[in-house]
Amino acid sequence: MLNRKNIAIIGAGAAGLSAAFYLSKQKYNITIFESAPFVGGQASTININGGLLERGYHHLFTNDYSIIQLMKDLNISNKMKWYPSKVGTYINGKIYPTTSPLDLLRFGALPFTERIKLGLLSLRIKNIKNWEKLEGFTANEWLEKKLGGESYEKFWKPLLRAKFGDYFDQIGMPWFWSKMQTRFASRKGKIPISFLNKEVLGYPDGSFETIFDHLKIYFKQNNVDLLLSTPVTKIIPQENSTISLDYKKNNSHNTRNFDFVLSTTPSFIFSKLIDLPNEYLKKMNSAHYIGALVMIIELEKKLTDHYWVNIVDENIPFLGLIEHTNMLPKRLYGNKNLIYLTNYLDKDHKYFSLSNSQIFDMYLPHLKKFNEKFSENWISNYHINSLSAAQPIIGKNYSTNIPAHNTPIKNLLLANTTQIYPEDRGTNYSIRMGKEIAEKLNKT
Ligand SMILES: Cc1cc2nc3c(=O)[nH]c(=O)nc-3n(C[C@H](O)[C@H](O)[C@H](O)COP(=O)(O)OP(=O)(O)OC[C@H]3O[C@@H](n4cnc5c(N)ncnc54)[C@H](O)[C@@H]3O)c2cc1C
Repeated sequence: MLNRKNIAIIGAGAAGLSAAFYLSKQKYNITIFESAPFVGGQASTININGGLLERGYHHLFTNDYSIIQLMKDLNISNKMKWYPSKVGTYINGKIYPTTSPLDLLRFGALPFTERIKLGLLSLRIKNIKNWEKLEGFTANEWLEKKLGGESYEKFWKPLLRAKFGDYFDQIGMPWFWSKMQTRFASRKGKIPISFLNKEVLGYPDGSFETIFDHLKIYFKQNNVDLLLSTPVTKIIPQENSTISLDYKKNNSHNTRNFDFVLSTTPSFIFSKLIDLPNEYLKKMNSAHYIGALVMIIELEKKLTDHYWVNIVDENIPFLGLIEHTNMLPKRLYGNKNLIYLTNYLDKDHKYFSLSNSQIFDMYLPHLKKFNEKFSENWISNYHINSLSAAQPIIGKNYSTNIPAHNTPIKNLLLANTTQIYPEDRGTNYSIRMGKEIAEKLNKT
């Protein structure tokens, strides 16, 4: 009989759940500690009139291979559905469609020559194979240098701002490169030149919760211990290279010892759980996190014709509008049209200290800008969610700064969104990371 090792996973988001799924059940006894009363972390859901919806808008791209594979491994591939996406950009008081190259050619907010420059630059980025040579630039520097003019100032710069807020000029160019590759890869159709095809986005039937639910069932059947509402409060390395965890359960403090610990918490939480050598700490702190403030509104009527609207207007206090029910049918949510209004902000931004009704009152007057017929009585309900570790800011030359998954403490590992590079963070990449770590541990 094999002597199975005990492993603790801190965090039941995509990374932690994936690691638990792919760890060998013959080799490990697995315990997952999750501070929230639910699984899914940033991709967790709330119930809206009987339908489950992510706290922050979520979709997938066709090259999100690791999550697609996980669904295969769970035998739920049939739950993944692909929808045409419709992206717009709100600028000068109007939403311009910006989904396809043809849309870009018609993008009246820019002079024609600037639109051509935009299209040519996108093609140039598509053809770059070696992202390493982009490492020494921020996206802002590179785009300004190669594009300049109105197409930079009025298009890419505001879009970078919309995604990264005040940190828009610190993002490494590899991030931008990989985002463009993903968007190109997600175009499907019969036209041989792929970027001319329509973009499709993936969404699991029943929300991302469908995947998490099937994982929970698998864990139950395979004796994986999933402890919800159980925050880890301290990680204490022992002299014999095992690791103790202090954790809170039902208001009582407990301690348990493990052979291995994998933490999937954001870096700023991890560094409070354990003292780490300075060099590793410095790497961990090299990626700053920004938070997200997301309001979901339930409307009686449709607000726009778009799934996703980037907002290029400094007078509007939110940066993006995602009309989820322009992708999924509204009958899933009690026939309400669901809109996300989103903002990426520093964790100590003043908006985070506002009450829900103050945020609602601040956003409300701007909805008419997207549909002049809009009236307040279309709103039947709203929800506000804030996430503190929504987006790591990954700067230039990051490959030399990524903290390793193996921390300087023996048998203690870290897997969080700051270790995803050059891709943007996303459920797919957290699942990939969880799986890679599990496979390495399976071999030890
Ligand atoms: C607004 C928004 C929109 C997004 N849109 C998309 C999208 O369209 N597509 C996509 O693929 N991805 C999207 N993402 C990103 C995606 O959700 C994340 O990258 C992914 O879910 C991260 O998973 P994770 O497991 O690495 O981290 P997390 O989800 O952050 O999981 C970490 C877990 O650790 C737990 N934890 C923290 N501290 C402790 C502790 N002390 N003890 C126990 N547990 C602890 C947390 O509660 C959490 O559950 C979006 C994110 C946001 C915020």
